[in-house]
Amino acid sequence: MKKCDQYIQGIADYIDGEADAALCAELEAHLKGCQNCRIMVDTLRQTVVLCRDGKREKLPEKIQAKLKDKLKEKWQKKFNK
Ligand SMILES: [Zn+2]
Repeated sequence: MKKCDQYIQGIADYIDGEADAALCAELEAHLKGCQNCRIMVDTLRQTVVLCRDGKREKLPEKIQAKLKDKLKEKWQKKFNK
């Protein structure tokens, strides 16, 4: 089983709607058993939805990159102790 921090990129793609079917299935299976990742997905999703509602367009790459960095940082603190 993969560690949570290995799902970061996948989760970002998943939220963007860019994950393929196999990745979606893998992530959803993991999310069922992992509250940490579920919270991350919910938080990111809300941010993405808020941004999209305001602008009616895809998140700018800068913001996406920022979110991914934030997420990575958080998870690294959490799991790489
Ligand atoms: Zn997880």
